[in-house]
Amino acid sequence: MASVGTTAAQSTNGRGSGAEIPVENPATGEVIAHVPDLHADRVAELAVLARAAQPGWQALGFDGRARVLRNLRTWIMDHGDEVVETLVAETGKTYEDANLIELLYIGGALTYWAKHAERFLADERVGARTLAVTGKKMITRYEPVGLVGIIGPWNYPLVNSFGDAIPALLAGNSVILKPSEFTPLTSLLVADALVECGLPANVFAVATGRGATGAALVDEADYVMFTGSTATGKKVLARAAQTLTPVALELGGKDPMIVLADADLERAANAAVYYSMLNGGQTCISVERVYVEEPVYDDFVERVVKKVGAIRQGPSTGPATSEVGAMTTGAQLEIVERHVADAVAKGAHARTGGKRGDGKGLFYEPTVLVDVDHSMQAMTEETFGPTLPIMRVADAEEALRLANDSPYGLAASVYGGRERAEQLARRIEAGAVCVNDALLNYLAVELPMGGWKSSGLGSRHGAGGIRKYTKQQSLFISRVHLKRELFMFPYKAKSSKLLFKGVRALYRRGKRG
Ligand code: NDP
Repeated sequence: MASVGTTAAQSTNGRGSGAEIPVENPATGEVIAHVPDLHADRVAELAVLARAAQPGWQALGFDGRARVLRNLRTWIMDHGDEVVETLVAETGKTYEDANLIELLYIGGALTYWAKHAERFLADERVGARTLAVTGKKMITRYEPVGLVGIIGPWNYPLVNSFGDAIPALLAGNSVILKPSEFTPLTSLLVADALVECGLPANVFAVATGRGATGAALVDEADYVMFTGSTATGKKVLARAAQTLTPVALELGGKDPMIVLADADLERAANAAVYYSMLNGGQTCISVERVYVEEPVYDDFVERVVKKVGAIRQGPSTGPATSEVGAMTTGAQLEIVERHVADAVAKGAHARTGGKRGDGKGLFYEPTVLVDVDHSMQAMTEETFGPTLPIMRVADAEEALRLANDSPYGLAASVYGGRERAEQLARRIEAGAVCVNDALLNYLAVELPMGGWKSSGLGSRHGAGGIRKYTKQQSLFISRVHLKRELFMFPYKAKSSKLLFKGVRALYRRGKRG
Protein backbone atom coordinates (compact mmCIF):
# COMPACT_ATOMS: atom_id res chain seq x y z
CA MET A 1 0.00 0.00 0.00
CA ALA A 2 1.31 3.44 -0.94
CA SER A 3 2.35 6.20 1.40
CA VAL A 4 -0.66 8.29 2.32
CA GLY A 5 -1.05 11.99 2.77
CA THR A 6 2.59 12.97 2.61
CA THR A 7 2.28 15.56 -0.12
CA ALA A 8 -0.24 18.39 0.13
CA ALA A 9 0.11 20.57 3.19
CA GLN A 10 -3.39 22.01 2.89
CA SER A 11 -5.56 19.31 1.40
CA THR A 12 -9.18 19.23 2.47
CA ASN A 13 -8.65 16.01 4.34
CA GLY A 14 -6.34 17.49 6.88
CA ARG A 15 -3.15 15.99 5.61
CA GLY A 16 -0.33 18.30 6.41
CA SER A 17 3.40 18.62 6.71
CA GLY A 18 5.60 17.73 9.66
CA ALA A 19 6.23 14.49 11.55
CA GLU A 20 4.80 11.24 10.28
CA ILE A 21 3.33 8.13 11.85
CA PRO A 22 4.07 4.73 10.28
CA VAL A 23 1.03 2.50 9.87
CA GLU A 24 1.68 -1.23 10.23
CA ASN A 25 -0.21 -4.29 9.12
CA PRO A 26 -0.39 -6.10 12.47
CA ALA A 27 -0.88 -9.48 10.81
CA THR A 28 2.42 -9.23 8.94
CA GLY A 29 4.43 -6.57 10.76
CA GLU A 30 4.89 -4.73 7.45
CA VAL A 31 4.77 -0.89 7.33
CA ILE A 32 2.03 -0.13 4.79
CA ALA A 33 1.78 3.68 4.90
CA HIS A 34 2.79 6.87 6.65
CA VAL A 35 0.39 9.58 7.77
CA PRO A 36 1.02 13.05 9.17
CA ASP A 37 1.08 13.59 12.92
CA LEU A 38 -0.91 16.82 13.06
CA HIS A 39 -0.05 19.40 15.68
CA ALA A 40 -2.57 21.52 17.54
CA ASP A 41 -2.08 24.56 15.28
CA ARG A 42 -2.92 22.48 12.21
CA VAL A 43 -6.05 21.14 13.93
CA ALA A 44 -7.03 24.76 14.66
CA GLU A 45 -6.56 25.63 10.96
CA LEU A 46 -8.74 22.69 9.96
CA ALA A 47 -11.38 23.88 12.42
CA VAL A 48 -11.42 27.35 10.81
CA LEU A 49 -11.93 25.78 7.37
CA ALA A 50 -14.61 23.41 8.66
CA ARG A 51 -16.51 26.21 10.38
CA ALA A 52 -16.44 28.29 7.21
CA ALA A 53 -17.83 25.37 5.19
CA GLN A 54 -20.60 24.45 7.64
CA PRO A 55 -23.29 27.07 6.77
CA GLY A 56 -23.25 26.08 3.08
CA TRP A 57 -23.61 22.42 4.01
CA GLN A 58 -26.50 23.20 6.36
CA ALA A 59 -28.15 25.27 3.64
CA LEU A 60 -28.25 22.23 1.34
CA GLY A 61 -31.11 20.91 3.48
CA PHE A 62 -31.89 17.35 4.46
CA ASP A 63 -32.47 16.16 0.90
CA GLY A 64 -29.20 17.60 -0.37
CA ARG A 65 -27.22 16.19 2.51
CA ALA A 66 -28.91 12.79 2.33
CA ARG A 67 -28.10 12.63 -1.40
CA VAL A 68 -24.36 12.92 -0.67
CA LEU A 69 -24.50 10.26 2.05
CA ARG A 70 -26.50 7.90 -0.19
CA ASN A 71 -23.89 8.44 -2.91
CA LEU A 72 -21.28 7.43 -0.38
CA ARG A 73 -23.21 4.25 0.43
CA THR A 74 -23.13 3.32 -3.26
CA TRP A 75 -19.44 4.25 -3.49
CA ILE A 76 -18.53 2.08 -0.51
CA MET A 77 -20.40 -0.93 -1.86
CA ASP A 78 -19.00 -0.42 -5.38
CA HIS A 79 -15.48 -0.13 -3.93
CA GLY A 80 -16.10 -2.84 -1.34
CA ASP A 81 -12.88 -4.71 -2.14
CA GLU A 82 -10.71 -1.61 -1.72
CA VAL A 83 -12.44 -0.66 1.53
CA VAL A 84 -12.18 -4.17 2.94
CA GLU A 85 -8.54 -4.54 1.94
CA THR A 86 -7.73 -1.26 3.68
CA LEU A 87 -9.58 -2.35 6.82
CA VAL A 88 -7.90 -5.76 6.85
CA ALA A 89 -4.45 -4.30 6.21
CA GLU A 90 -4.52 -1.70 8.99
CA THR A 91 -6.31 -3.74 11.68
CA GLY A 92 -5.32 -7.36 10.99
CA LYS A 93 -8.98 -8.38 11.07
CA THR A 94 -10.43 -11.06 8.81
CA TYR A 95 -12.30 -10.47 5.55
CA GLU A 96 -15.44 -11.71 7.31
CA ASP A 97 -15.03 -9.18 10.15
CA ALA A 98 -14.57 -6.40 7.61
CA ASN A 99 -17.43 -7.39 5.29
CA LEU A 100 -20.00 -8.73 7.72
CA ILE A 101 -19.57 -6.16 10.48
CA GLU A 102 -18.01 -2.99 9.09
CA LEU A 103 -19.66 -2.89 5.65
CA LEU A 104 -22.96 -4.28 6.90
CA TYR A 105 -23.14 -1.68 9.67
CA ILE A 106 -22.12 1.26 7.53
CA GLY A 107 -24.60 0.35 4.77
CA GLY A 108 -27.40 0.13 7.33
CA ALA A 109 -26.36 3.32 9.12
CA LEU A 110 -26.11 5.39 5.93
CA THR A 111 -29.53 4.15 4.85
CA TYR A 112 -31.16 4.70 8.24
CA TRP A 113 -29.85 8.20 8.92
CA ALA A 114 -30.42 9.42 5.35
CA LYS A 115 -34.04 8.29 5.64
CA HIS A 116 -34.86 9.41 9.19
CA ALA A 117 -32.67 12.43 9.95
CA GLU A 118 -35.27 14.91 8.73
CA ARG A 119 -38.03 13.35 10.85
CA PHE A 120 -35.90 13.30 14.00
CA LEU A 121 -34.91 16.94 13.54
CA ALA A 122 -38.23 18.31 12.30
CA ASP A 123 -39.90 21.13 14.24
CA GLU A 124 -42.22 19.72 16.89
CA ARG A 125 -45.37 21.52 18.01
CA VAL A 126 -45.81 21.33 21.77
CA GLY A 127 -49.40 21.54 22.99
CA ALA A 128 -50.03 24.10 25.79
CA ARG A 129 -50.80 22.04 28.91
CA THR A 130 -49.98 24.69 31.54
CA LEU A 131 -52.82 27.14 32.07
CA ALA A 132 -50.50 30.13 32.37
CA VAL A 133 -49.54 29.69 28.72
CA THR A 134 -52.90 28.81 27.22
CA GLY A 135 -53.17 29.97 23.64
CA LYS A 136 -49.45 30.26 23.01
CA LYS A 137 -47.82 28.51 20.09
CA MET A 138 -44.84 26.44 21.20
CA ILE A 139 -42.27 24.70 19.04
CA THR A 140 -39.05 22.83 19.70
CA ARG A 141 -36.52 22.90 16.93
CA TYR A 142 -32.95 21.78 16.34
CA GLU A 143 -29.92 23.69 15.05
CA PRO A 144 -26.65 21.94 14.23
CA VAL A 145 -23.99 22.58 16.88
CA GLY A 146 -21.53 23.66 14.15
CA LEU A 147 -18.33 21.64 14.32
CA VAL A 148 -18.39 18.08 15.67
CA GLY A 149 -15.12 16.46 16.74
CA ILE A 150 -15.08 12.66 16.57
CA ILE A 151 -12.29 10.71 18.22
CA GLY A 152 -12.21 7.02 17.40
CA PRO A 153 -10.50 3.80 18.52
CA TRP A 154 -8.61 1.28 16.37
CA ASN A 155 -10.88 -1.76 16.51
CA TYR A 156 -13.55 -0.76 13.96
CA PRO A 157 -12.26 2.15 11.84
CA LEU A 158 -15.45 2.36 9.79
CA VAL A 159 -18.09 1.56 12.44
CA ASN A 160 -16.71 3.36 15.46
CA SER A 161 -15.10 6.33 13.80
CA PHE A 162 -16.90 7.21 10.59
CA GLY A 163 -20.15 5.64 11.84
CA ASP A 164 -20.60 8.48 14.31
CA ALA A 165 -19.88 11.09 11.64
CA ILE A 166 -22.95 10.06 9.63
CA PRO A 167 -25.67 11.50 11.92
CA ALA A 168 -23.42 14.49 12.72
CA LEU A 169 -23.14 15.34 9.01
CA LEU A 170 -26.81 14.74 8.27
CA ALA A 171 -27.72 17.10 11.10
CA GLY A 172 -25.91 19.84 9.13
CA ASN A 173 -22.60 19.96 10.98
CA SER A 174 -19.08 19.91 9.68
CA VAL A 175 -16.97 17.14 11.17
CA ILE A 176 -13.31 16.62 11.99
CA LEU A 177 -12.49 12.99 12.65
CA LYS A 178 -9.40 11.99 14.63
CA PRO A 179 -8.90 8.28 13.95
CA SER A 180 -6.63 6.09 16.05
CA GLU A 181 -2.97 6.53 15.17
CA PHE A 182 -2.91 2.77 14.46
CA THR A 183 -5.76 2.74 11.94
CA PRO A 184 -6.09 6.05 10.03
CA LEU A 185 -6.24 4.69 6.47
CA THR A 186 -9.91 3.78 6.17
CA SER A 187 -10.92 7.23 7.44
CA LEU A 188 -8.70 8.90 4.81
CA LEU A 189 -10.18 6.68 2.10
CA VAL A 190 -13.72 7.65 3.14
CA ALA A 191 -12.78 11.34 3.24
CA ASP A 192 -11.65 11.16 -0.40
CA ALA A 193 -14.76 9.20 -1.31
CA LEU A 194 -17.02 11.82 0.27
CA VAL A 195 -15.55 14.54 -1.95
CA GLU A 196 -16.11 12.32 -4.98
CA CYS A 197 -19.70 11.82 -3.80
CA GLY A 198 -20.41 15.56 -3.74
CA LEU A 199 -19.50 16.68 -0.23
CA PRO A 200 -18.45 20.35 -0.30
CA ALA A 201 -14.79 20.96 0.53
CA ASN A 202 -13.78 21.07 4.21
CA VAL A 203 -17.12 19.83 5.57
CA PHE A 204 -15.37 16.62 6.59
CA ALA A 205 -11.70 16.44 7.52
CA VAL A 206 -9.49 13.75 8.99
CA ALA A 207 -6.95 14.89 11.57
CA THR A 208 -4.41 12.10 11.76
CA GLY A 209 -2.19 12.03 14.78
CA ARG A 210 -1.70 10.74 18.29
CA GLY A 211 -3.34 11.59 21.62
CA ALA A 212 -2.24 15.25 21.45
CA THR A 213 -4.09 15.67 18.15
CA GLY A 214 -7.24 14.31 19.81
CA ALA A 215 -6.79 16.68 22.74
CA ALA A 216 -6.43 19.62 20.32
CA LEU A 217 -9.66 18.60 18.62
CA VAL A 218 -11.47 18.66 21.97
CA ASP A 219 -10.41 22.32 22.28
CA GLU A 220 -11.78 23.21 18.84
CA ALA A 221 -15.06 21.32 18.57
CA ASP A 222 -18.56 22.37 19.61
CA TYR A 223 -19.39 18.77 20.48
CA VAL A 224 -17.10 15.78 21.04
CA MET A 225 -18.04 12.20 20.30
CA PHE A 226 -15.38 9.99 21.85
CA THR A 227 -15.07 6.22 21.58
CA GLY A 228 -12.19 4.55 23.34
CA SER A 229 -10.92 3.46 26.71
CA THR A 230 -12.37 4.64 30.01
CA ALA A 231 -9.00 6.14 31.02
CA THR A 232 -8.79 8.36 27.91
CA GLY A 233 -12.52 9.14 28.13
CA LYS A 234 -11.96 10.71 31.54
CA LYS A 235 -9.18 12.89 30.11
CA VAL A 236 -11.44 14.02 27.27
CA LEU A 237 -14.21 14.88 29.73
CA ALA A 238 -11.83 16.89 31.92
CA ARG A 239 -10.47 18.79 28.93
CA ALA A 240 -13.94 19.49 27.52
CA ALA A 241 -14.94 20.91 30.89
CA GLN A 242 -12.49 23.78 30.31
CA THR A 243 -14.56 25.04 27.39
CA LEU A 244 -17.88 23.61 28.62
CA THR A 245 -18.06 21.55 25.45
CA PRO A 246 -20.66 18.76 25.53
CA VAL A 247 -19.32 15.24 25.06
CA ALA A 248 -20.61 11.72 24.56
CA LEU A 249 -18.31 8.95 25.78
CA GLU A 250 -18.56 5.35 24.56
CA LEU A 251 -16.01 3.52 26.65
CA GLY A 252 -14.75 0.10 27.67
CA GLY A 253 -16.65 -2.89 28.99
CA LYS A 254 -16.38 -6.32 30.57
CA ASP A 255 -19.52 -7.82 29.14
CA PRO A 256 -20.90 -10.88 30.92
CA MET A 257 -22.84 -13.74 29.33
CA ILE A 258 -25.08 -15.80 31.58
CA VAL A 259 -26.06 -19.32 30.51
CA LEU A 260 -29.08 -20.70 32.36
CA ALA A 261 -29.78 -24.39 32.78
CA ASP A 262 -32.73 -24.24 30.38
CA ALA A 263 -30.73 -22.60 27.57
CA ASP A 264 -30.37 -24.07 24.10
CA LEU A 265 -26.78 -25.11 24.90
CA GLU A 266 -25.65 -25.52 21.32
CA ARG A 267 -26.80 -22.00 20.43
CA ALA A 268 -25.28 -20.60 23.63
CA ALA A 269 -21.95 -22.35 23.00
CA ASN A 270 -21.76 -21.15 19.38
CA ALA A 271 -22.61 -17.62 20.53
CA ALA A 272 -20.04 -17.63 23.34
CA VAL A 273 -17.31 -18.73 20.93
CA TYR A 274 -18.23 -16.39 18.09
CA TYR A 275 -19.01 -13.27 20.11
CA SER A 276 -15.87 -13.59 22.24
CA MET A 277 -13.49 -14.26 19.31
CA LEU A 278 -15.10 -12.12 16.59
CA ASN A 279 -12.64 -9.42 15.45
CA GLY A 280 -10.00 -11.14 17.59
CA GLY A 281 -12.08 -10.34 20.69
CA GLN A 282 -11.47 -6.63 20.06
CA THR A 283 -15.06 -5.45 20.14
CA CYS A 284 -16.29 -3.13 22.86
CA ILE A 285 -19.28 -5.42 23.43
CA SER A 286 -17.40 -8.73 23.07
CA VAL A 287 -18.41 -11.51 25.44
CA GLU A 288 -15.61 -11.09 28.01
CA ARG A 289 -16.73 -13.57 30.71
CA VAL A 290 -19.30 -16.35 31.00
CA TYR A 291 -21.27 -17.65 34.02
CA VAL A 292 -22.92 -21.03 33.59
CA GLU A 293 -25.46 -22.66 35.90
CA GLU A 294 -24.09 -25.77 37.56
CA PRO A 295 -26.29 -28.44 35.89
CA VAL A 296 -25.13 -27.55 32.36
CA TYR A 297 -21.62 -26.27 33.08
CA ASP A 298 -19.63 -29.37 32.04
CA ASP A 299 -21.64 -29.92 28.87
CA PHE A 300 -21.29 -26.22 27.92
CA VAL A 301 -17.52 -26.15 28.52
CA GLU A 302 -16.92 -29.29 26.45
CA ARG A 303 -18.88 -27.87 23.52
CA VAL A 304 -17.00 -24.57 23.71
CA VAL A 305 -13.54 -26.17 24.01
CA LYS A 306 -14.21 -28.32 20.95
CA LYS A 307 -15.37 -25.37 18.89
CA VAL A 308 -12.52 -23.06 19.94
CA GLY A 309 -10.00 -25.84 19.32
CA ALA A 310 -11.17 -25.97 15.70
CA ILE A 311 -10.71 -22.23 15.04
CA ARG A 312 -8.20 -21.34 12.32
CA GLN A 313 -6.00 -18.35 13.06
CA GLY A 314 -3.63 -16.39 10.86
CA PRO A 315 -3.45 -13.50 8.39
CA SER A 316 -6.71 -13.25 6.46
CA THR A 317 -6.04 -13.28 2.72
CA GLY A 318 -9.57 -13.68 1.41
CA PRO A 319 -12.93 -15.19 2.28
CA ALA A 320 -12.77 -18.04 4.84
CA THR A 321 -8.97 -18.09 5.05
CA SER A 322 -8.85 -17.41 8.78
CA GLU A 323 -11.43 -17.21 11.55
CA VAL A 324 -9.54 -15.17 14.13
CA GLY A 325 -7.24 -12.45 12.89
CA ALA A 326 -4.45 -10.50 14.55
CA MET A 327 -4.47 -8.22 17.57
CA THR A 328 -4.29 -4.70 16.20
CA THR A 329 -1.70 -3.36 18.64
CA GLY A 330 1.26 -4.82 20.50
CA ALA A 331 0.13 -3.08 23.70
CA GLN A 332 -3.23 -4.88 23.56
CA LEU A 333 -1.52 -8.21 22.96
CA GLU A 334 0.53 -7.63 26.12
CA ILE A 335 -2.66 -6.96 28.13
CA VAL A 336 -4.09 -10.29 26.94
CA GLU A 337 -0.87 -12.10 27.89
CA ARG A 338 -0.89 -10.45 31.31
CA HIS A 339 -4.53 -11.37 32.05
CA VAL A 340 -4.03 -15.00 31.06
CA ALA A 341 -0.78 -15.28 33.05
CA ASP A 342 -2.45 -13.72 36.10
CA ALA A 343 -5.39 -16.14 35.86
CA VAL A 344 -3.16 -19.19 35.47
CA ALA A 345 -0.96 -18.07 38.39
CA LYS A 346 -4.12 -17.90 40.54
CA GLY A 347 -5.36 -21.38 39.64
CA ALA A 348 -7.11 -21.07 36.26
CA HIS A 349 -6.48 -23.58 33.44
CA ALA A 350 -6.24 -22.79 29.75
CA ARG A 351 -8.21 -25.55 27.99
CA THR A 352 -7.11 -24.18 24.59
CA GLY A 353 -4.48 -21.63 23.55
CA GLY A 354 -2.97 -19.66 26.41
CA LYS A 355 -0.06 -18.19 24.47
CA ARG A 356 1.02 -15.98 21.57
CA GLY A 357 0.65 -17.37 18.10
CA ASP A 358 3.70 -18.29 16.03
CA GLY A 359 5.06 -16.05 13.33
CA LYS A 360 5.66 -12.35 12.87
CA GLY A 361 2.16 -10.98 13.29
CA LEU A 362 0.46 -9.94 16.52
CA PHE A 363 -1.50 -13.12 17.19
CA TYR A 364 -2.81 -14.57 20.44
CA GLU A 365 -4.22 -18.08 20.30
CA PRO A 366 -7.97 -18.45 20.92
CA THR A 367 -8.08 -19.30 24.61
CA VAL A 368 -10.70 -20.90 26.87
CA LEU A 369 -10.04 -20.42 30.60
CA VAL A 370 -11.75 -22.50 33.28
CA ASP A 371 -11.48 -22.55 37.09
CA VAL A 372 -11.64 -18.77 37.06
CA ASP A 373 -12.96 -16.39 39.73
CA HIS A 374 -13.15 -12.69 40.48
CA SER A 375 -9.67 -12.51 42.02
CA MET A 376 -8.37 -12.67 38.42
CA GLN A 377 -7.91 -9.77 35.99
CA ALA A 378 -9.34 -11.94 33.21
CA MET A 379 -12.71 -11.77 35.02
CA THR A 380 -12.67 -8.16 36.19
CA GLU A 381 -10.67 -6.03 33.72
CA GLU A 382 -11.29 -5.50 30.02
CA THR A 383 -9.11 -8.04 28.17
CA PHE A 384 -10.08 -7.11 24.58
CA GLY A 385 -8.63 -10.26 23.07
CA PRO A 386 -9.56 -13.81 21.93
CA THR A 387 -10.11 -15.19 25.42
CA LEU A 388 -13.17 -16.81 26.96
CA PRO A 389 -13.11 -17.33 30.73
CA ILE A 390 -15.98 -19.55 31.90
CA MET A 391 -17.09 -19.73 35.53
CA ARG A 392 -19.37 -22.28 37.20
CA VAL A 393 -22.15 -20.74 39.32
CA ALA A 394 -24.70 -22.38 41.62
CA ASP A 395 -27.70 -20.58 40.17
CA ALA A 396 -28.99 -17.52 38.32
CA GLU A 397 -28.79 -15.32 41.41
CA GLU A 398 -25.09 -15.99 41.81
CA ALA A 399 -24.58 -15.33 38.09
CA LEU A 400 -26.42 -12.02 38.41
CA ARG A 401 -24.42 -10.95 41.45
CA LEU A 402 -21.15 -11.70 39.65
CA ALA A 403 -22.28 -10.11 36.38
CA ASN A 404 -23.02 -6.89 38.26
CA ASP A 405 -19.77 -7.07 40.23
CA SER A 406 -17.98 -4.78 37.77
CA PRO A 407 -17.17 -1.09 37.36
CA TYR A 408 -18.37 -1.47 33.76
CA GLY A 409 -21.90 -1.64 32.38
CA LEU A 410 -21.69 -1.59 28.59
CA ALA A 411 -23.65 -4.66 27.46
CA ALA A 412 -24.53 -8.21 28.53
CA SER A 413 -26.34 -11.31 27.31
CA VAL A 414 -28.49 -14.02 28.87
CA TYR A 415 -29.16 -17.41 27.29
CA GLY A 416 -32.03 -19.45 28.67
CA GLY A 417 -35.78 -20.01 28.61
CA ARG A 418 -37.16 -16.75 27.25
CA GLU A 419 -39.34 -15.69 30.20
CA ARG A 420 -36.72 -16.40 32.85
CA ALA A 421 -33.88 -14.97 30.77
CA GLU A 422 -35.77 -11.75 30.10
CA GLN A 423 -36.56 -11.26 33.78
CA LEU A 424 -32.88 -11.71 34.61
CA ALA A 425 -31.85 -9.35 31.77
CA ARG A 426 -33.85 -6.52 33.37
CA ARG A 427 -31.75 -6.84 36.54
CA ILE A 428 -28.35 -6.62 34.85
CA GLU A 429 -26.56 -3.29 35.27
CA ALA A 430 -25.75 -2.57 31.62
CA GLY A 431 -26.90 -0.18 28.93
CA ALA A 432 -27.84 -3.01 26.54
CA VAL A 433 -28.78 -6.60 27.33
CA CYS A 434 -29.49 -9.28 24.72
CA VAL A 435 -31.61 -12.36 25.38
CA ASN A 436 -30.60 -15.50 23.46
CA ASP A 437 -28.48 -13.19 21.32
CA ALA A 438 -25.43 -11.00 21.77
CA LEU A 439 -23.70 -8.06 20.08
CA LEU A 440 -26.19 -7.80 17.20
CA ASN A 441 -27.93 -4.97 19.02
CA TYR A 442 -25.11 -2.74 17.74
CA LEU A 443 -26.43 -3.18 14.20
CA ALA A 444 -29.82 -1.87 15.32
CA VAL A 445 -29.23 1.79 14.49
CA GLU A 446 -32.80 2.45 15.63
CA LEU A 447 -32.06 1.21 19.17
CA PRO A 448 -30.15 3.54 21.51
CA MET A 449 -26.87 2.22 22.85
CA GLY A 450 -24.83 3.70 25.67
CA GLY A 451 -22.89 2.37 28.64
CA TRP A 452 -23.73 2.56 32.32
CA LYS A 453 -21.21 3.10 35.10
CA SER A 454 -17.61 3.44 33.78
CA SER A 455 -18.70 2.40 30.28
CA GLY A 456 -19.86 5.78 29.13
CA LEU A 457 -21.86 8.93 29.12
CA GLY A 458 -24.70 9.51 26.66
CA SER A 459 -25.54 7.20 23.80
CA ARG A 460 -25.50 6.69 20.06
CA HIS A 461 -28.27 5.53 17.67
CA GLY A 462 -32.00 6.23 17.66
CA ALA A 463 -33.51 9.74 17.70
CA GLY A 464 -31.17 10.81 20.50
CA GLY A 465 -28.20 9.68 18.39
CA ILE A 466 -28.71 12.60 15.98
CA ARG A 467 -30.33 15.17 18.29
CA LYS A 468 -27.21 15.18 20.43
CA TYR A 469 -25.39 16.86 17.53
CA THR A 470 -27.79 19.80 17.68
CA LYS A 471 -28.71 22.68 19.93
CA GLN A 472 -32.36 22.55 20.89
CA GLN A 473 -34.27 25.80 20.58
CA SER A 474 -37.72 26.44 22.04
CA LEU A 475 -39.96 28.93 20.26
CA PHE A 476 -42.73 30.51 22.32
CA ILE A 477 -45.07 32.55 20.14
CA SER A 478 -47.90 34.81 21.24
CA ARG A 479 -50.76 34.91 18.75
CA VAL A 480 -53.80 36.55 20.39
CA HIS A 481 -52.90 39.03 23.10
CA LEU A 482 -53.74 42.16 25.03
CA LYS A 483 -51.84 45.44 24.88
CA ARG A 484 -50.95 44.95 28.52
CA GLU A 485 -51.15 41.64 30.42
CA LEU A 486 -53.10 41.73 33.68
CA PHE A 487 -50.03 40.80 35.74
CA MET A 488 -47.81 43.59 34.38
CA PHE A 489 -46.75 46.87 36.04
CA PRO A 490 -48.21 48.99 37.48
CA TYR A 491 -49.70 46.63 40.08
CA LYS A 492 -53.24 47.43 41.19
CA ALA A 493 -54.59 45.97 44.41
CA LYS A 494 -57.85 44.86 42.83
CA SER A 495 -56.32 42.94 39.95
CA SER A 496 -53.51 41.52 42.13
CA LYS A 497 -56.05 40.10 44.58
CA LEU A 498 -58.07 38.63 41.74
CA LEU A 499 -55.01 36.99 40.29
CA PHE A 500 -53.88 35.61 43.69
CA LYS A 501 -57.30 34.03 44.14
CA GLY A 502 -57.20 32.66 40.64
CA VAL A 503 -53.82 30.95 41.18
CA ARG A 504 -55.05 29.22 44.36
CA ALA A 505 -58.36 28.24 42.79
CA LEU A 506 -56.66 26.75 39.76
CA TYR A 507 -54.25 24.54 41.65
CA ARG A 508 -56.28 23.68 44.75
CA ARG A 509 -55.94 19.91 45.25
CA GLY A 510 -58.22 17.90 43.06
CA LYS A 511 -58.92 20.68 40.60
CA ARG A 512 -56.06 20.26 38.10
CA GLY A 513 -54.84 16.70 38.32
P1 NDP B 1 -7.88 4.85 23.52
O1 NDP B 1 -8.68 5.43 24.62
O2 NDP B 1 -6.47 4.53 23.76
O3 NDP B 1 -7.89 5.82 22.26
C1 NDP B 1 -9.08 6.26 21.66
C2 NDP B 1 -8.79 7.50 20.82
O4 NDP B 1 -8.45 8.59 21.67
C3 NDP B 1 -7.60 7.31 19.88
O5 NDP B 1 -7.87 7.99 18.68
C4 NDP B 1 -6.49 7.98 20.65
O6 NDP B 1 -5.43 8.38 19.85
C5 NDP B 1 -7.23 9.17 21.24
N1 NDP B 1 -6.58 9.81 22.39
C6 NDP B 1 -5.57 9.34 23.17
N2 NDP B 1 -5.28 10.24 24.15
C7 NDP B 1 -6.13 11.28 23.99
C8 NDP B 1 -6.35 12.51 24.68
N3 NDP B 1 -5.63 12.84 25.75
N4 NDP B 1 -7.32 13.34 24.24
C9 NDP B 1 -8.06 13.02 23.17
N5 NDP B 1 -7.91 11.87 22.47
C10 NDP B 1 -6.95 11.01 22.86
O7 NDP B 1 -8.70 3.57 23.03
P2 NDP B 1 -8.23 2.48 21.98
O8 NDP B 1 -7.96 3.12 20.67
O9 NDP B 1 -7.17 1.66 22.63
O10 NDP B 1 -9.57 1.62 21.80
C11 NDP B 1 -9.89 0.54 22.60
C12 NDP B 1 -10.89 0.95 23.65
O11 NDP B 1 -12.05 1.50 23.04
C13 NDP B 1 -11.39 -0.21 24.46
O12 NDP B 1 -11.40 0.12 25.83
C14 NDP B 1 -12.81 -0.42 23.98
O13 NDP B 1 -13.66 -1.02 24.90
C15 NDP B 1 -13.21 0.96 23.63
N6 NDP B 1 -14.32 0.95 22.67
C16 NDP B 1 -15.57 1.30 23.09
C17 NDP B 1 -16.65 1.22 22.23
C18 NDP B 1 -18.03 1.64 22.67
O14 NDP B 1 -18.87 1.82 21.82
N7 NDP B 1 -18.29 1.75 23.96
C19 NDP B 1 -16.48 0.78 20.85
C20 NDP B 1 -15.12 0.44 20.51
C21 NDP B 1 -14.09 0.53 21.40
P3 NDP B 1 -4.20 7.35 19.63
O15 NDP B 1 -4.76 6.07 19.12
O16 NDP B 1 -3.37 8.02 18.64
O17 NDP B 1 -3.55 7.19 20.98
